[in-house]
Amino acid sequence: MKRYLAAVIAALLATAAPAGAEVVDVVVQAGHEGRPASCAPNHVRACNLGASSPAGREILWTPVVADAATAALRAAGLRVARRPADYPQHDVARVAIFIHFDGAVPACASGTSVGFPPGTSRKFVAAWVHAYRNFFPFRFAGENISDGEEHYYGYHKVDAPQKMLIEFGELTCPAQAAWLAPRLRALGTFTARFLIGQLR
Ligand SMILES: [Zn+2]
Repeated sequence: MKRYLAAVIAALLATAAPAGAEVVDVVVQAGHEGRPASCAPNHVRACNLGASSPAGREILWTPVVADAATAALRAAGLRVARRPADYPQHDVARVAIFIHFDGAVPACASGTSVGFPPGTSRKFVAAWVHAYRNFFPFRFAGENISDGEEHYYGYHKVDAPQKMLIEFGELTCPAQAAWLAPRLRALGTFTARFLIGQLR
């Protein structure tokens, strides 16, 4: 009987969490981090290294935001899986956040935007957009404005009711980049505060 129960419990756990899954409150992914080295071992064909401009490189900015967000979330007692661009694990979480900065041609054609898959709640996305538009003093470019935002590969790496890709701003726009660059850690703590409020 004991062995039967153990088998049932193991089966239930396996259903809830795929093999190798980490069960956490929040997945925080830094876009592009670890590339290009991570692409080949993870069979990534479109090894996108992110936006860059004289003001900075997205691949160097996203980990700063992600680390600050992770530290603030953990300080609040939440469990976080902090992920780079490519990794073998599949996570189970309450929320997954994918951190990016946009690039545009011509410069300043973009701004902040968000991407999310169909399952994510509109209320969650709207709450973020409302909060961030009060903080970010530039253009809001919209929701799911590109194929990359709507069909982001990272959405398939986690089971979570809320998944959102955030483009915090356009780093190829000099004015936006000048505002963003000294605030990378602040963007992380801002995001953590928002998530803590949502997860309460
Ligand atoms: Zn990106």
